[in-house]
Amino acid sequence: MDKRNVLWEKHRMMLPQMREKAVHRCGHCRFFVSIRGLKETRYGCVVDVKAYGNLEKRIPPVVPVLEIIKRVGLEGLERCLEKGEPERQSCGKFRLKG
Ligand code: SF4
Repeated sequence: MDKRNVLWEKHRMMLPQMREKAVHRCGHCRFFVSIRGLKETRYGCVVDVKAYGNLEKRIPPVVPVLEIIKRVGLEGLERCLEKGEPERQSCGKFRLKG
């Protein structure tokens, strides 16, 4: 690393809204849910499920897997489950659970 940049790196400024996104984790986001299947329940993110993502439909804490498949298909379900790590750093679509 270029040593001349050390001072700059240590004093890097962050906009307040960016700081909020950077400190939050998926587990605190309203789009983060439990997805209940027949044999197991896993975590996932439903932000890309249109009805939930645009807040048209209330987001329940537990969503049946068939509901997700019906709305976004198996590939959509895969994408939901890929974002199923509660400690993952939040993305730009983060909305605090409330
Ligand atoms: S922060 Fe982003 S990826 Fe994480 S649960 Fe919320 S919308 Fe999904």
